[in-house]
Amino acid sequence: GVIWLDGEWLPWRDAKVHLLTHTLHYGCGVFEGLRAYKTDHGAAIFRLRDHTDRLFRSAHIMCMKIPFDKDILDRAQCEAVSRNNLSSAYIRPMCFYGSEGMGLHAKGLKVHVMVAAWEWGSYLGAENMARGIKVRTSSYTRNYVNSVMCKAKANGNYLNSILAVQEAVEAGCDEALLLDHEGYVAEGSGENVFIVRRGKLYTPDLTSALEGITRETVFTIARENGLEVVEKRITRDEVYVADEAFFTGTAAEVTPIREVDGRTIGEGGRGPITEKLQSLYFDYVHGRRND
Ligand code: PLP
Repeated sequence: GVIWLDGEWLPWRDAKVHLLTHTLHYGCGVFEGLRAYKTDHGAAIFRLRDHTDRLFRSAHIMCMKIPFDKDILDRAQCEAVSRNNLSSAYIRPMCFYGSEGMGLHAKGLKVHVMVAAWEWGSYLGAENMARGIKVRTSSYTRNYVNSVMCKAKANGNYLNSILAVQEAVEAGCDEALLLDHEGYVAEGSGENVFIVRRGKLYTPDLTSALEGITRETVFTIARENGLEVVEKRITRDEVYVADEAFFTGTAAEVTPIREVDGRTIGEGGRGPITEKLQSLYFDYVHGRRND
């Protein structure tokens, strides 16, 4: 396979960085995660420009100047799929600082941009898409308040996510649920969260969750199908007594949650509204929409 780096296509094995790469030491970089799906017109990247726009917003927050324009990056992402002969793919663009100097101030460092793509199935396991996953509330918080704001998909925002997933998996669960600094439900390690109660959808507002593109797609799909969506603060006990719960994300797509902190959610499987939204989501991303 090939990986795009700063305008050139490199063989997979040659796509390396120097050991003094600033981002490797301090974790300051921005990235995106996209998926391409098989459609009647070949592989199509779902909401490509929206992801590229978010990449630029993340970089803007970090005062990182991306040395390419959006059209070039969009083309690189499409070509990462086609040049690697992928019919469906996960695509990872990332912007990172070079190795010209150490010290925290990144001024004067070169901004590099890479794009890789590979085949990636269900993020949380194919069988879990039908039966739901087990989730554990994390002791690590989603603390965007005093660090990087939640509008940035920045590498440094993922330390707590990594620790949270580690903790969840060691406790026999599949994924973590992070609370915000006040104890309200924020999001998963790399997913937004929704609950269903009495036929209505609820999801935390954006004060402590990433502005997920899948989250927004689910709003559209739900509303088109007569389901009300409410953004509000959610407590962990509201999750425990929900009829259904699910995660959304480019990687996780629509993943049902069957258990949180040892409490069964609803009937303990994939709820009917989750199933419906999941199926509508897959139709949507595959371009099988009835307009
Ligand atoms: N929350 C976090 C922390 C994420 O990393 C992601 C993944 O990008 C999401 C939510 C879901 O966002 P999206 O649906 O845009 O992939």
